[in-house]
Amino acid sequence: MLRVVVLYPDLLGTYGDGGNAMVLAARARARGVDVEVHDVTIGEVIPRAALYLLGGGEDGPQRLACDLLVDGGFVDRVEEGGHVFAVCAGLQILGTTFSIEGDASYRGVGLVDAWTTRGPTRSVGNFATLVRGRMMVGFENHGGVTELGDNVEPFGDVVVGRGNDGIVDGFRTPRVTATYAHGPVLAQNPWLADELLSAVTGQALAPWPSVADRLYVERCDAVSTRRSDVDRTGGRR
Ligand code: GLN
Repeated sequence: MLRVVVLYPDLLGTYGDGGNAMVLAARARARGVDVEVHDVTIGEVIPRAALYLLGGGEDGPQRLACDLLVDGGFVDRVEEGGHVFAVCAGLQILGTTFSIEGDASYRGVGLVDAWTTRGPTRSVGNFATLVRGRMMVGFENHGGVTELGDNVEPFGDVVVGRGNDGIVDGFRTPRVTATYAHGPVLAQNPWLADELLSAVTGQALAPWPSVADRLYVERCDAVSTRRSDVDRTGGRR
């Protein structure tokens, strides 16, 4: 049984990222993989899982979620073998520090050498990132600018929008993937949902064509063809 845990959807659930769990479960079951999706809400214990999902959220709830993850031993659960897929506030929490409205800096869970400060403007709108040659589409809505330590690999190269800093988006380690893309991003990018499932299950997945493939192509056209109109620097450089 593949256990997928959605962490604090009651705090990090304002942007529809809970849909990522639904997509993973549907795509796994379609390939005969047994899945259990478990929401961990405030006050609940963080169980062992194959995959933890973190969504986006507003500043205050983001801080509280971070405290709960630290107190709940989240890093230990990951070090025991769990994979993580995180979006926006979730991404920021995984780093060493992040700042929210008012510029105060808070300690993150420290799973990855990445840190987030406030950008000059809020970045809201369509978003596209090139991930090892494949386009990932979504939308972003955040005030943070994220920097990566020298040894941390970005998840992708920004094509439209800001992501971390107008140049790259997110980060990836062997078991942790993080992006600024909402959408839900796994609904909009079926190839990414399958890539994540393959990494977590350790097995290749048979193709599973669906309407999501056509919608993905339409979103790519709608988002990335306007790249010449877009400031890729996020106003920073
Ligand atoms: N509160 C964070 C920011 O504004 C994250 C927002 C989000 O998750 N969309 O940068």
